[in-house]
Amino acid sequence: MINYKPVDPRKSPRFSGIKTFMRLPHVKTTEGIDFAIIGVPCDEGASFRTGQRSGPEAIRSVSALLRPHNPILDVSIFEYCSGVDYGDLPVVPGYIEDCYKKIEASLFPLVAAGVIPILLGGDHSVTLPELRAVAKKHGPVALIQFDSHTDTQDEYFGRRYNHGTPFRRAVEEKLLLVDRSIQVGMRGSIFSPDALEEARTLGFDVITTDQARDMGSDNLIRRIRDRVGDTNLFVSFDIDFVDPAYAPGTGTPEVGGFTSAEAIHLVRGLNGLNLVGCDVVEVLPEYDPAGITALLASNIVYEFISILALNKKNTNV
Ligand code: MN
Ligand code: MN
Repeated sequence: MINYKPVDPRKSPRFSGIKTFMRLPHVKTTEGIDFAIIGVPCDEGASFRTGQRSGPEAIRSVSALLRPHNPILDVSIFEYCSGVDYGDLPVVPGYIEDCYKKIEASLFPLVAAGVIPILLGGDHSVTLPELRAVAKKHGPVALIQFDSHTDTQDEYFGRRYNHGTPFRRAVEEKLLLVDRSIQVGMRGSIFSPDALEEARTLGFDVITTDQARDMGSDNLIRRIRDRVGDTNLFVSFDIDFVDPAYAPGTGTPEVGGFTSAEAIHLVRGLNGLNLVGCDVVEVLPEYDPAGITALLASNIVYEFISILALNKKNTNV
C-alpha cells in the first residue's frame, strides 16, 4: 500500500530540497492518493493588480513549516491520508479561454479517479474551470465561497471571463446546487446598490462581513453547515476574505475584514462536511513583503487537508 507523505523535517532540514507543498513528494499520479495539491498559476482574469500567477510558488515555499499533526482537530493527517504535490496545471498566458480549457481537461482525470483536488490559485477566475471538472464527475455541487466580493458580475470590460464573474457563469452553466451554496464575507464599496441582491437573486445565500460579525462565529458556522447539508461540497477561499492587515498580498484588498485566527476557525468549522474539492486563490506575493499572506494561505490549505483526514478517521471508527 503506497502512502505518500511529507519529508520529516527532523531528519532533513526545512530549508533544503525543492519546494513542494508541505514537502510532499511531487508525483504525477492518481494511484494510491486521497488528495493532490495542484497549482494554477493563472492571473489572466485579474482586474486590478496582477501577479497571482506566483501564488502557488509562494504558498509552497512557506508551507515547509507545516507539521503533520493538527492539535485542534486532533488528527495526524498522514495516518489517514496519502497525498502528493501534483505540480501546476498547464496555462496559456494572455488567453484566458485557452487556460480554462487546459485547466478543466488536465484536472478532470484526477477528479474522475476519485482524488480530491486542493488547488492553489491564481486569481479567482480559475475556479470556473475547476468547477467544470468537478461537476463533470459529481454533477452540480454545493459551494462555500469565502470572499469579500461575490464575483457574480455579468461582465468586465465587455468580457465574460475574469475574476469578477466566475460564480455567475457557474450558476448559468448549472455547475452548482445554488440552493445549497453560500457566499460569506462580502464588504467594501460596490458598483451599484443592488450588487449583493443580484447574487441573492442568482440563488446564493449571501452573508456580509458585518452580518457575520453580528451573528458570531458559532451561528455563522451553523448557518453554513445547515445550508450545505450532506451534499458534495466545493470550498473556494479567496484570501481577500481576510483583512489586508493579515493578508496584504492580494489583488483587490478590502479593509475591515477577518483576522487570520477567525478565518482558520471558520474553516475548521467545516469538518465533517463532504468536501470533494477546494481552492485558495488570489495570493499575490509581490504585495506580500513578509510572506504572511502566503503563510496564511498555506495554513488554510493545511486545515482543508486536516478535514479530509478527520473525515476518514471518523468513518474508519
Ligand atoms: Mn474572489
Ligand atoms: Mn475577492
